[in-house]
Amino acid sequence: MLKSLMRLLEGLVMVFCDRCTELLLEDKLDTVTASKLKLLTTDLQCKVADECLQLHGGWGYMWEYPVCRAFADSRVQRIYGGSNEIMKLIISRELMK
Ligand SMILES: Cc1cc2nc3c(=O)[nH]c(=O)nc-3n(C[C@H](O)[C@H](O)[C@H](O)COP(=O)(O)OP(=O)(O)OC[C@H]3O[C@@H](n4cnc5c(N)ncnc54)[C@H](O)[C@@H]3O)c2cc1C
Repeated sequence: MLKSLMRLLEGLVMVFCDRCTELLLEDKLDTVTASKLKLLTTDLQCKVADECLQLHGGWGYMWEYPVCRAFADSRVQRIYGGSNEIMKLIISRELMK
């Protein structure tokens, strides 16, 4: 059930990502929409990387395995470019208007 939901979410995020790219190319992408995309995609990336590492067991935690690098690289996405807590602040401010 959780895996099906993850698949559905991945599909929805891809559509949203495409739409945001269109908006960006048209110079119409606003901060709140971009923040929603950053929050959604980076949270999902971390979840996927975490599941992949889990699949490899303890070896996945060793630097010798590429999945370890993918895990570390995905984790920083929630920090830089504006941390995800800040994305939540931007989105919630818009919701409170
Ligand atoms: C590898 C790497 C590369 C980077 N490259 C660049 C770059 O090229 N250009 C650039 O400009 N910056 C870059 N940065 C900086 C990056 O944008 C900042 O790290 C990021 O914005 C978070 O700021 P901070 O590290 O000062 O964390 P802090 O602001 O100290 O935050 C620490 C923690 O507190 C949380 N927090 C802070 N304020 C709030 C709040 N009001 N409410 C709730 N939680 C809060 C944060 O979410 C975070 O979890 C890079 C950072 C890294 C790690």
